[in-house]
Amino acid sequence: MGFRPYVYRLAISMGVVGTVANSSSGVEIRCQGLRVREFISKLKANPPPLARVTSFRVRPAKPRRFKGFRIVASGNNGDMIPHRVPIPGALVLPDIAVCPECRKELLCSKDRRFCYPFTNCTQCGPRYTIVRTLPYDRPRTTLRGFQMCPDCSREYQNPEDRRFHAQPNACPECGPSLSLLDSSGRLLACDPIMESARAIAAGRIVAIKSLGGFQLACDATSTKAVARLRQRKSRPAKPLAVMCENLSAVRGFCRITGTGRELLCSPAAPIVLLRKRYGDTIRNHVPISVSRLIAPNNSHFGVMLAYTPLHVVLLRELHRLQGRAPVLVMTSANTRDDRLTASDPELLQELRGVFDLALTHNRPIANRCDDSVVLADKRPIMVRRARGYAPQPIVLDPWFHVKQPTLALGAELRNCFALADANRVFLSPHIGNLGSSRAEHFFHNTLERYLDWTKLKPCRIACDLHPNYLSTRLAERLSAKWKLPLFRVQHHYAHVAAVMAEHGIQKPALGLAFDGTGYGTDRAIWGCEFLLVGPDLSWRRVGHLKYLQLTEPGAVVANPGRVAAGYLLQVTGRVPRQLGLSRYVGPVRNLLQAHRAVATSSLGRLFDAVAGITGVCRNAAFEGQAPIALEACANPDEQGHYFRDNVLLTHPDPALVDPGPIISQVLEDVLAKTDPAVVSARFHNTIVRAVARLAHQLARSYRVNTVLLSGGSFQNNLLRHRVSAELRRKGYRVVYNQLVPVNDGGISLGQAVSCGTATP
Ligand code: ZN
Ligand code: ZN
Ligand code: FE
Repeated sequence: MGFRPYVYRLAISMGVVGTVANSSSGVEIRCQGLRVREFISKLKANPPPLARVTSFRVRPAKPRRFKGFRIVASGNNGDMIPHRVPIPGALVLPDIAVCPECRKELLCSKDRRFCYPFTNCTQCGPRYTIVRTLPYDRPRTTLRGFQMCPDCSREYQNPEDRRFHAQPNACPECGPSLSLLDSSGRLLACDPIMESARAIAAGRIVAIKSLGGFQLACDATSTKAVARLRQRKSRPAKPLAVMCENLSAVRGFCRITGTGRELLCSPAAPIVLLRKRYGDTIRNHVPISVSRLIAPNNSHFGVMLAYTPLHVVLLRELHRLQGRAPVLVMTSANTRDDRLTASDPELLQELRGVFDLALTHNRPIANRCDDSVVLADKRPIMVRRARGYAPQPIVLDPWFHVKQPTLALGAELRNCFALADANRVFLSPHIGNLGSSRAEHFFHNTLERYLDWTKLKPCRIACDLHPNYLSTRLAERLSAKWKLPLFRVQHHYAHVAAVMAEHGIQKPALGLAFDGTGYGTDRAIWGCEFLLVGPDLSWRRVGHLKYLQLTEPGAVVANPGRVAAGYLLQVTGRVPRQLGLSRYVGPVRNLLQAHRAVATSSLGRLFDAVAGITGVCRNAAFEGQAPIALEACANPDEQGHYFRDNVLLTHPDPALVDPGPIISQVLEDVLAKTDPAVVSARFHNTIVRAVARLAHQLARSYRVNTVLLSGGSFQNNLLRHRVSAELRRKGYRVVYNQLVPVNDGGISLGQAVSCGTATP
């Protein structure tokens, strides 16, 4: 993993003798010599570039006779420390994108690894996705079946070499190899890379075995190919990620900021959400017209750079073939909302008919791991945390230390569990929607691995307050099986607690948790919550969006047209014919009259309603589609708004934001044929004003000066930028989730740190 070789080199350079080894509890160094103190402080101050040191313990030991400094086999470190206290949490590194040196070798025709798709070194390559058990050594990875050839062994044993103790070291002589299958799984005799590139250039769909699972690739500049992929995957509208060779290709269709560039080129190499270019002139860059079907009604593209040698050589071949910079769709290979496929049999069974060819290989995937997604902003926002980040722990400020080992199960959608103890919280990679037995398996397998690696034995379990979340049911089963106490944590409070823990905030703060749905303590569906949180993590709901009735509370993806009809009936008593929502009126009215609706303060649903009234989105195929479309169409120059004094009701406790007057004015504007781009902008401006004012009033009366933002709605850039700007202007410190997802993928952190504290 690069750590031991680094220690070795440092020790040799300083004349320090001893040993270094991986143990199941971390890296263990035994050292002695005149400069040993200096050695330790150097190691502390400058750990190896890719290592993240979460704890560092030094203990004295009896002197011993060492012959120089050696890297010794795991678990064979002698017994110099008499009472070794195991430090749980030997860390598996995340997978790391191909490094510049390996890339150079990969593209050099004289190198013995020219175009070899499994090239890696101590600074790059697979880690998490190949490890089965610890300590991290080749026999415990999925490379155990590959015997290193003499050349590779020499590199592996040579302390001067970049591949010194690189566990997955491989070359064309001895390492894994590619093969190409047709759609029915028959092996094709050909050059797999060349044939895959040809197929993609011809508009076909190729499944590619990547680090943590299969991906589906096709030419992103061909609308025909993208349409075929969407149709076969039954994914009509959700944005598709794309992959490029380098930054200059990305500049052909996206705007890249400083953070965007940093993220794209980082060792994690996530999918980065970048602003689209809209026909603006591009200096020094060839414009690339990516199909309009890649991210329809969205202001951003999700882009990543080739992060494995396999991607690098495939894109290189395609570039040669097409004579231009290729852009490939690179989306997870799974059926709708299921976990991703990670072996040939799974791919053939679950995705038959979706792909034309499968570019696969014989290095098994030990752990599934999806691509991560980060929103490139001045302060980047984590949207999906997986490859490149998991299983690195979040390190907590002493104030937030978890007193007993805790397992927090997270939410039902965008599931991600947290295993926490003392100052560390190990978050699972994005597991996703738990609603299938395969996803549940994925959950259990990952949990098993985490428990084994960390050696943590949970003493309590935390879950969401929602009685019907699958994650709650899982928690109930685990708590019965392991006989552990179960703590149910309110959804929005968990969102806010996650921000507090991430930023180590020890003062009372006002939390704004805005999202689609979360179960409230009054059984209503919450989703626009102003929560006052004390430094002891006690909390109180001090404000929210005034309740409206929602007629399809159980739907995973709300129908914006239907929500619009329901809200209009409640607010104005009518649904004008010209809105095109008539078909919803009857059923919705019946449900309202039969009291079969549920009260909600969801901000996401209010966005849905406005998207439905304006016609920006009447039918949604995925959660968040309507709010995303509404944000994308808003005219940024429009200054108007619908804020009137009657929007804020500050006398009741909790205080209220009344959506009624807002909806009425949206309707008026729509009936007056105002451009939806203007209506959307005015609606955004209104929410920003109402929220910032109410937050200011509440913060002032409760004497807090920190405001925490969390919840999926804050992925909306307009909302996040403007709410934080307004509040900062008034002197508040505004923080939000950055290390963990701002959406439900981050709530397990909040559940873990607040588990066991008093809740109302
Ligand atoms: Zn490398
Ligand atoms: Zn070799
Ligand atoms: Fe949420």
